[in-house]
Amino acid sequence: QFPFGRRLPCDIYWHGVSFHDSNIFSGQVNKFPGMMETVRKITLSRAMRTMQDLFPLEYNFYPRSWILPEELPLFVAEVRMMKDSNPSWKPTFIVKPDGGCQGDGIYLIKDPSDIRLTGSIQSRPAVVQEYICKPLLVDKLKFDIRLYVLLKSLEPLEIYIAKDGLSRFCTEPYQEPTLKNLHQVFMHLTNYSLNIHSGNFIHSNSVNTGSKRTFSSILCRLSSRGADVKKLWSDIISLVIKTIIALTPELKVYYQSDIPAGKPGPTCFQILGFDILLMKNLKPILLEVNANPSMRIEHEQELSPGVFENVPSPVDEEVKVAVIRDTLRLVDPQKKTRKDTHVTVSPELQWLGVHEHPPPVGGVPMAGAGGMSSEVLPTLIPSAILCCRCQSLEQAPEASQEQPGAAPSTEAALPSLCLKQVFPKYAKQFSYLRLVDRVAALFIRFLGVKGTTKLGPTGFRTFIRNCRLSNSNFSMAAVDILYIDITRRWNTMGIEHKESGMCLQAFVEAFFCLAQKKYKSLPLHEQVASLIELCECRLAALRGKRLLWGCS
Ligand code: ADP
Repeated sequence: QFPFGRRLPCDIYWHGVSFHDSNIFSGQVNKFPGMMETVRKITLSRAMRTMQDLFPLEYNFYPRSWILPEELPLFVAEVRMMKDSNPSWKPTFIVKPDGGCQGDGIYLIKDPSDIRLTGSIQSRPAVVQEYICKPLLVDKLKFDIRLYVLLKSLEPLEIYIAKDGLSRFCTEPYQEPTLKNLHQVFMHLTNYSLNIHSGNFIHSNSVNTGSKRTFSSILCRLSSRGADVKKLWSDIISLVIKTIIALTPELKVYYQSDIPAGKPGPTCFQILGFDILLMKNLKPILLEVNANPSMRIEHEQELSPGVFENVPSPVDEEVKVAVIRDTLRLVDPQKKTRKDTHVTVSPELQWLGVHEHPPPVGGVPMAGAGGMSSEVLPTLIPSAILCCRCQSLEQAPEASQEQPGAAPSTEAALPSLCLKQVFPKYAKQFSYLRLVDRVAALFIRFLGVKGTTKLGPTGFRTFIRNCRLSNSNFSMAAVDILYIDITRRWNTMGIEHKESGMCLQAFVEAFFCLAQKKYKSLPLHEQVASLIELCECRLAALRGKRLLWGCS
């Protein structure tokens, strides 16, 4: 801790809230620039919408969402249309203020006309989302899962998932939403911070009872009821990888702005909290991603009225200590040195050879053909299923899962790793989804000025010219109009805009528009993929030409 400011450089910087120290020129920081902004409810919903437009089946784990106030008319129209085409559809929606947390300001509605427009929506934008009415219940209670995910690196993408997480329970028995029970937060919202105030809240002394339990204890229960827990884990891994793929384009724009390539700077990693709801049929649904998941391992207990004391929470301790410990093991700056001195067998072979399952078969699926049900990944934690007779995840026989390069002597003294690599391990199956990443690479290339996140009109024109996208049907005047139209709309959408210019999402919209124009008859993801290939190819040719001119 540096309460009075830091003078010495460190190997690892552990910031409390966000990436905020611009005086770091080496080492590793536990936050990515822009992560807080990227996972806000509205930004996440936009990123998921883009992916749903491209790959509707693959991204059907995120509830249909609309952004308020700008999409209110669209929300009203779409709901009316769906009701007209299916009169028996009786939906419920959940309204969540942007930037809110701990259930703050959330309410349920049955009809778009119930949205509270007075004051707050205008001043505080929100997301309205289809409410999942049939969640999986345990002991008649709704619960959600908090899973910890380590984004260890953005380029190349490296993702780890913790083998165990937390299950947070409601404190009133669940009933499907009706006008009478819509306001009952202890029945519908699983937030710990809300339910702790219910008289029914039970502080857990063990991992499989009470209002907060380990996820592994739920898996054990499900497994004993005959549920396919392997498939569930595979779907969860898939959800996590796809969500991060949706977030990386925006993160890369922030990253190059805060830590410009070619200048001394740190590398980043971050522990994220994924909130996931299981539907009755065990399909996982993403609720949200937290950039700063609570790492508290104590809870407050009221000793006498108004007198509180912090007491240890065994469930939190079991899950969170392992996550922090293993994150530090994985980012350990000494690892590389030890690797050079201690390990004789190829560490990759050690890692793979004894690892649970063979790599996924089948290579890259056909675009659009990889719906949730068809992707069964080898599960990461067979131990979760095997543990039904025990209280927590099996730990012992995994000493051989030491990370590449870890010194056997040091690692042997530590418990086995709870963080499991899922990317690049399963990269092959998901690489076809990374289209927006490639669009973001084009965007970043034309940003020009270092430290910016928005593209000016000249940058956009240069992009069109260098990729040779204008022609007699699409003049440079039309290019300017496209730029102005889209940029103006995005800049009036109530998003914080310190800089003027075209943000990444606006560029993505323009890019999709150009792709649709050029490749009319194809499905959207193929139109976009074709245009990306064309641009990459033309830019490579241009670069080749310039090199040649340089030589001559
Ligand atoms: P916050 O950041 O305020 O916690 P969340 O998006 O996590 O907001 O929502 C709070 C709670 O509301 C969740 O923990 C979950 O119990 C419930 N919830 C959120 N979205 C949905 C949904 N689409 N369907 C059903 N329940 C939901």
